[in-house]
Amino acid sequence: MDIFGFADFPFISSAQKYVERLDFKLDELFSDRAFEQIRKRGKDRVLSAIGDGIIHYEYPDRVSAEKELLSYPVARILVSCIKDSYLIKRYALSEAKSSYDLIKKLPDGGLMDFASEFSISSRIDERSYVMHCADYLRHAIREQGWKLINRKMNRGWVYLSKVEFARIIEEAVRERIESGLPLDVPPHICASLEDYLIEIRNNLIARKSEFSIEEFKEIMPDCFPPCIVHALSGAQAGLNLPHSLRFALTSFLLNIGMNIDGIIEMFKVSPDFDEERTRYQVMHIHGAAGTAYTSPSCATMTTYGNCFGKEPLCDRISHPLSYYRKKARKTYIQKNLNIMQ
Ligand code: SF4
Repeated sequence: MDIFGFADFPFISSAQKYVERLDFKLDELFSDRAFEQIRKRGKDRVLSAIGDGIIHYEYPDRVSAEKELLSYPVARILVSCIKDSYLIKRYALSEAKSSYDLIKKLPDGGLMDFASEFSISSRIDERSYVMHCADYLRHAIREQGWKLINRKMNRGWVYLSKVEFARIIEEAVRERIESGLPLDVPPHICASLEDYLIEIRNNLIARKSEFSIEEFKEIMPDCFPPCIVHALSGAQAGLNLPHSLRFALTSFLLNIGMNIDGIIEMFKVSPDFDEERTRYQVMHIHGAAGTAYTSPSCATMTTYGNCFGKEPLCDRISHPLSYYRKKARKTYIQKNLNIMQ
């Protein structure tokens, strides 16, 4: 792959080696005026991830392609300085999504090279892409249609179309980017990027407040238990949540009074979003078939590996709803006391 390919796929190991060979001093990249365009493009990558998604450009020459490649480490450093788990998830997803459009256009050989970059055992069998089921399970999308029972399989090998195979690679890209963040950035580097960071933080706050005001109305998101905050960040970042966590999140929000359309809206950013199916599932949990479901207890959440980020209040409750009620009541009383003072 050449510099143009590295600019398209800056997360692959050979692109990283290329950057290392350029032998930049970090201080120069983040303070020298000669690199301002690169810093701006790095910032744009992050802002686009918060907004409508990262867009790839055509590079007219090697110099532009090199600038584009260098904007990737800049973006990663900006995200790392902010250290916000929602931003990390959203950024990783946006980079992966934008590369998916390019990955699915690669010729067969290029796609196979990509698979080996992520240690995915695969081959082409007539017109299908075939991958080992262990790798498939490692990267498979958590949706009904992607379950192994719904796939064509032969002796431990799973058959996929080219688009599906590219989608699996997109997932591997997302995992790689997300697991590599945040980087341990020296404080003086973050300080030299403060102007960019202010702009990113403001956009992030605006994005998050849109989410809490429009979608929650009277509901108090600040009082959500950590497990639900974790699930919500994942859903808002467009991740495909495991079924059990999706159920826990949906039932919790319905139980505290969030409306059905608000919940469907929340899942819209999911890469495999299907409005009709999501509406059916939410209505079902809400009781369309006669049984309204209560969100799972802490014990059940723990059994399914969905209890994340326990904090002191968790030791005094046995249900995420109790956590919410206790905290909401305390916040409500405090607010009223402040008004009276
Ligand atoms: S203890 Fe309960 S409320 Fe707290 S994070 Fe775990 S599941 Fe959520």
